[in-house]
Amino acid sequence: MKNKSKGFTYTTTIDYDVADMYASSKCKKCLGRGINKTYTSLNGTIKKNEKLIENLTYCDCVHKNVKKYG
Ligand SMILES: [Zn+2]
Repeated sequence: MKNKSKGFTYTTTIDYDVADMYASSKCKKCLGRGINKTYTSLNGTIKKNEKLIENLTYCDCVHKNVKKYG
């Protein structure tokens, strides 16, 4: 079986409800959405015309509030 890397978009499973529930509305990093989007390429460097991988992560404010209330 061939394992071909086609540069697909990989999205981390993120629960938007959780992010929304725990996000701090005053947070400047995520603007109250609780989710941060970052882009990386497969080899770690970002070049023109290269497929980027979209990474969704919970913002720090979400982690903080989950610990606090969760
Ligand atoms: Zn935040």
